[in-house]
This record gives sequence, C-alpha cells and structure tokens, in this order.
Amino acid sequence: MSAVPQVKVSTNKASWSPSTLNSKFTYESSTVTRDLATNSFNVTSTAIDYEFKTDLKVGKTGLLLVGLGGNNGSTTLAAILANKHQLSFETKEGTVNPNYYGSVTQSSTVKIGVDPEVGNDVYAPFKSLVPMVNPNDLVIGGWDINSANLKDAMKRAKVLDINLQEKLAPYMEHVKPLASVYYPDFIALNQEARADNVANVDANGKVNTNDKWNDVERIRNDIQQFKKQNNLDKVIVLWTANTERYCDVIPGVHDTAENFLAAVKSNHSEISPSSVFATACILDNIPYINGSPQNTFVPGVVELAEKHGSFIGGDDFKTGQTKIKSVLAQYLVEAGIKPISIASYNHLGNNDGYNLSSPKQFRSKEISKQSVVDDVVQSNEILYNTSSGRDKVDHCIVIKYLPAVGDSKVAMDEYYSELMLGGHNKIAIHNTCEDSLLAVPLILDLAIVCELLTRVQYKRAGTGEFKTFYSVLSFLSYWLKAPMTKPGFDPINGLNKQRAAIENLIKILVGLPLGNDLRFEERLV
Ligand code: NAD
Repeated sequence: MSAVPQVKVSTNKASWSPSTLNSKFTYESSTVTRDLATNSFNVTSTAIDYEFKTDLKVGKTGLLLVGLGGNNGSTTLAAILANKHQLSFETKEGTVNPNYYGSVTQSSTVKIGVDPEVGNDVYAPFKSLVPMVNPNDLVIGGWDINSANLKDAMKRAKVLDINLQEKLAPYMEHVKPLASVYYPDFIALNQEARADNVANVDANGKVNTNDKWNDVERIRNDIQQFKKQNNLDKVIVLWTANTERYCDVIPGVHDTAENFLAAVKSNHSEISPSSVFATACILDNIPYINGSPQNTFVPGVVELAEKHGSFIGGDDFKTGQTKIKSVLAQYLVEAGIKPISIASYNHLGNNDGYNLSSPKQFRSKEISKQSVVDDVVQSNEILYNTSSGRDKVDHCIVIKYLPAVGDSKVAMDEYYSELMLGGHNKIAIHNTCEDSLLAVPLILDLAIVCELLTRVQYKRAGTGEFKTFYSVLSFLSYWLKAPMTKPGFDPINGLNKQRAAIENLIKILVGLPLGNDLRFEERLV
C-alpha cells in the first residue's frame, strides 16, 4: 500500500505546533419545545464556542484483550502480524496480500472538500486527518481462561486459510494468554472444559469466587506489568471473552460506586468477571471497552468511571446483522415507509454460538439486539403512534447453534413494511457473516479511535481549564450494537448518524467544515 498522504488544512480555525493541534469550533444547534395546545414546535437556535486541543503524540500503545484465545482474540493478533510482516498467502483463488478491509480507520475515506476546477468531491483516507495509532504498532496481549497458545487458538478458531496459518505459526506459538478471572456461574456451563487457565484458584486448584477484590488487584498488576515489560505509554483493555449472563442489578449493590466497591470487597455473588475487569481498569484510568452484550456497566461502575474520569465504552460489537439493521431501519423510516415487523434468524457454529445456546447468555444477546431500531421508531410519530394502532415494530430474534457452519454465521432477516394505501413490502436478506473477520477490524477501530479520544481536550471558549470527554465514550457507538450513553440520554443507533458524529469530530479538530451534502458548486447557477 502506498504511504498515507498528509492533509494540510489552511484555515484560521486550527493551528498546528509540533506537539499540539489547537482548534476552534462553534457548535450550532437548536432547542425545541412543544406546545400541544397550539400544536406547534418552538425552535430556538443556539451557538456555543468551543476550543479543542489535541495531543499529537500517539505514543506506544498496548491492547489487552480479555478472551485473547477466542476466535476474535486470535484473529486480531493474526491480522496484525500478517499486516506487520506483510505475509501474503495462497488460496484457491490466488495470492492474497494482507489488508485491513472492514476497518473504518484503515480502509475508509472522508470527503475533505472539492476540487477547485469543477467542484467534484475529493476524498482522503480517514487515518490521514489526525495522527492515529497504526494497528501494526499495537502491542497485543491479554487473558483467557483457556491456556492454548495463540497458534493452537488460531487453528481451533478455523477462521483463516491454512496457508496463512502456516506462515503465522512461528509468530504466534510463543504467545500465551495470562490466566484469567473465572466465575463459572456467569458463562454457559458448556464452557467449563475450556477453563484450564484460571487465576482465582485455591491451593488445591479449585476455583475460588470468594476473593473478588484480590481478582481486581491481580488484573491491575497484570496491566502494569504488561505496560512495563513492553515499555508502553498507554494501554487499552477490551472484553472479547464469552458473553456473560446479565447480573441481577440490586439496589445497595450495583447502584452507586461506593456500594459497588463494597460489594466487590464482600464477594457479592452478582458481581461478574467483566465488571471486575472494568473496576480494575477504571481505578487505574485505563480505557475499558465491552465488546459483548452483558450488563458489565451497572450504574455503580458508570459512577466509578465518572469519579475517576476514566473512559468506558460498550456494549457488543456491531458486526453483521445488526449493522445492516441500523442502516435499513433508518433508510425505511426516513423514506416514510413503515416497517411493522423485523424477524431475525441466526445460526452459527463457533464457540460463541455454543455459549449462546445456553438460555441466560442468549438472553443477554437478545436484549442487545432488540433495541437497535428504537431511536428510529421514536423519530417518526407520523408512522408510529397509538391512534394508527401501531407505535412499535414487532421484532423477534432467534439464535441457533449449528456446529457445521463454524465461524461463518448465517443471518437471515425479513423486513415487512407497510406502504401507502394498504400496500406491503417485504425485504429478505441472507447474510453470511464470517464473524471474526467482521469483528476484528471493529476491535482495531475501537482501540484506535479510543486512543485518539484520550488525546483530545476541550473547553468553552474563554473559560478556564481544558477537560477530557465525558467518561462514557458514545463517540464509539458506530462499532457497538447497544451503545452506552450518558445516563438520561437516548442512544443513537442509526449507523449513518453514528459515522457522521465521529467524522465531524475529526473534522473540527483539524479545522475542516462539517460534512454537508449541499453541493452548491453544482446546484446553484
Ligand atoms: P470465542 O468463544 O471464540 O472466544 C471467547 C474467549 O473468551 C474464549 O477463548 C474463552 O475461553 C474466553 N473466556 C471466557 N470467559 C473468560 C474470562 N472470564 N476471562 C478471559 N477469557 C474468557 O468467542 P468470539 O467469537 O471470539 O466472540 C467473543 C465475544 O464477542 C462474544 O461474547 C461474542 O458474543 C462477542 N461478539 C462477537 C461478534 C462477532 O462478530 N464475532 C459480534 C458481536 C459480539
């Protein structure tokens, strides 16, 4: 691949020094109140001036994966090594050169303006606007409850072509996951045989779930050791381990940071391993991202992150079926068409599917997939209202474990919509997902964009100190199925809106105008 072009922006909105990028931005918006008596919306425009400061030093970054030995974990390491060492390989269709297709940061472009002659759009690589970590430079490590080395884990995953596996083997065989925290009650019983690399065991090797604070401390220590051994400037931790069951959110246990910490210290049975990992990270200001659907971020954990000004993001990677749903639902409703039912069937044969064949873990996934059309439905009261007899979409989700299809998850969806004058439209989609090859580019994007967000500070123009963003990084929503928000805010699920948010943030950091598709160059006389 040719070198990344440099984008030099001539503007009075941004100034570059060797270490810092400073920019100014006026956030124009409007507040709306509704007067039902007069049936009117009252809109007032608002404008707030902000200043942004971006640290241009990327630094050496480590990415620690919880679930390193799984399909996603092993494929993440494999993808980075294949790209870093330029390992081309043979398939029956010929030679394949390594790439990062499916990654927004590595393989997508952004419109940065128009050419001066005609006025046609000009695009630059997404990664060329501000300095971001090169995925090839990420130092990968992590934990797994299974002890397989990463060469064997890659083989077990059955994701990559055999010729590539052979080339990667010498780089992967010496990598071993750290022993992890295992509370058997949280993942499916069928995973028990895998758990031969458990850190929380007693002198007889028996799993001990009665020293949860020690588990927190052990994870903190693992992270610090990894940072030191690899001479890293920063570390990001991402959960790509098995889907856990939901924990029961109990008042007095999960509701505040203080109660939550006390519950960890007293070994409450409803404290999950993923929340233990989150706690360890938050206490040391390590960004923590949850790629699975469980409710890791109970209110007490969110409050803890707020208190420490630590970054968290989640939940559940948005890869195949849900990504399409968050585009199609937005398209249909914005076109004025009324989806009335969405039926989604999946079958998959990997270990994720095996774990999800257990009802409690399936329930976590079902909840995560369920809410993806909610914001789109709420945005249109012409289509969805009680007087029309339908104020929601009937939405059903089925997941079945079918070993034969392995990691090539099959997703089948039917969108049934109401058209004008009693007409109906049916769209059926059959999507073979290649689950881990869709998920790995997301894992990289989440880490890369999260790292960038740690280097950005802002303040209201003319006021005191610069601050970092709010702890819950909802800028990461594009890659997440059930995006977390600041408590009290409704999530945005529409994929195009999510992409616009992150793209526009990067544009304002470098002083480019926000994206709009007015194309006055063409449309005005
Ligand atoms: P996988 O089963 O292949 O890998 C999970 C790994 O986590 C296993 O190696 C397992 O031993 C390990 N593990 C379980 N509990 C652990 C713990 N407490 N600590 C450390 N390791 C632990 O699954 P996968 O296909 O890699 O998917 C990983 C997760 O990502 C799943 O929860 C899945 O639902 C979620 N996800 C995947 C996709 C996708 O497209 N691949 C999309 C959305 C969400």
